[in-house]
Amino acid sequence: MNPSTLDLNPPPVADPGSPVLTEPLDGAVVRADFPILAHEQNGQRLVYLDSAASSQRPNAVLDAMRRYETHSHANVHRGVHRLAAEATDLYERARTRVAAFLGTDDRREVVFTSGTTAAINLVAGSWGQDQLGPGDVILVTPMEHHSNLVPWQLLSRRTGSELRAIPLLPDGTLDLDALPTVLDDRVRFVTMAHVSNTLGVTNPVAEVVAAAHAVGAKVLLDAAQSVPHGPVDVRGLDVDFLAFSGHKMLGPTGIGVLWARHELLEAMPPWQGGGEMIRRVTMEGSTWNDAPYRFEAGTPPIAQAVGLAAAVDYMQGLGMDRIATHHRLLAGDAARRLDALPGLRLLGPAADAAREGVVSFTVDGLHAHDLATILDARGIAVRAGHHCTMPLHDHLGVAASTRASFAVYNTLEDIDDLVEGVKHAQAMFGLNA
Ligand code: PLP
Repeated sequence: MNPSTLDLNPPPVADPGSPVLTEPLDGAVVRADFPILAHEQNGQRLVYLDSAASSQRPNAVLDAMRRYETHSHANVHRGVHRLAAEATDLYERARTRVAAFLGTDDRREVVFTSGTTAAINLVAGSWGQDQLGPGDVILVTPMEHHSNLVPWQLLSRRTGSELRAIPLLPDGTLDLDALPTVLDDRVRFVTMAHVSNTLGVTNPVAEVVAAAHAVGAKVLLDAAQSVPHGPVDVRGLDVDFLAFSGHKMLGPTGIGVLWARHELLEAMPPWQGGGEMIRRVTMEGSTWNDAPYRFEAGTPPIAQAVGLAAAVDYMQGLGMDRIATHHRLLAGDAARRLDALPGLRLLGPAADAAREGVVSFTVDGLHAHDLATILDARGIAVRAGHHCTMPLHDHLGVAASTRASFAVYNTLEDIDDLVEGVKHAQAMFGLNA
């Protein structure tokens, strides 16, 4: 930002305003559950619009983790004393809770990892390393978060398999019509985001899964941006693997989930060695524990699992369908109002398309980092940059964008502040005359 070009008293600009919308959740009441939101930012009410990067945690999650740490902590699975049993019980109850949240009653299908990235690397390092070789094809999309692209680039280099991408349409969404041109019977593995962390759009999972399964390929769904925004049912989706992070769904950092069908997990070799993942160890070699423990080498994130289960309870208490409607309404309102501003370009489809709580945009003449800095001075936290989707930004022909993302604690008032903030920034740069 060049301070000499700033107009510190910009003229007011007309705004189309919001129609009368009713929020499915009472954002103001929900907001009170999140202690961090009570703290001012730069002397202003904090408007937190960066939940796609990491969401905030309600008291219910913080309290559950504190209770665990102050009353129940010990290492899990190995001890015979009371605390060890209590910690194990809480950790395993968290697994059962997450399984039910995903629509399955088989808790053995839930592997705790440190996050989405670790869950995806687990699949690449175990299933991928074991199953893929020269002549095989891994199919990805160019809209993936780097976490769901780079592990496959590394794996393809290690195994000699080929990495291919499903083409994108000019607006960055998947070109489903082009799927048959890249999905042939050499494809062994297909992976894609359920919801794009940059565009906020939901990918056509059913169509891709059906086509992938028809050629015998396995499918991994990166659900990091769908689990926070509504109900996710692994059986209904019919995918083989699904990954997500706790910290994007009101839970703590340091925990994530890999879900996979039990038979599939049981057939997979371990990817990391250590305690807990073994059945028997001799100096000559080792045998492996059953899934999911085979994939949880070392001391797991116990307090984080307890926090994740509390986040699941909290979200289900609000109602997953209501959360979905709330996030869609906020993202839709933001897209429509931002789109009406001069020089503003939404990334992805038109403003009236469904967006799952995520809106990214560019503003002519205003770098995303400058805009985010000006918004920050007004207490508004947004993301600026490539959001770990460089190939998607390349495809859209933009170096960086600004992203506003929504969670249960956001309100239409937050969008008023965002729109006013963008207009203010444009005026500072003399852009909305
Ligand atoms: N996949 C998507 C779609 C994401 O949005 C993110 C994080 O932004 C990730 C994967 C990586 O998640 P984590 O950093 O929690 O492992």
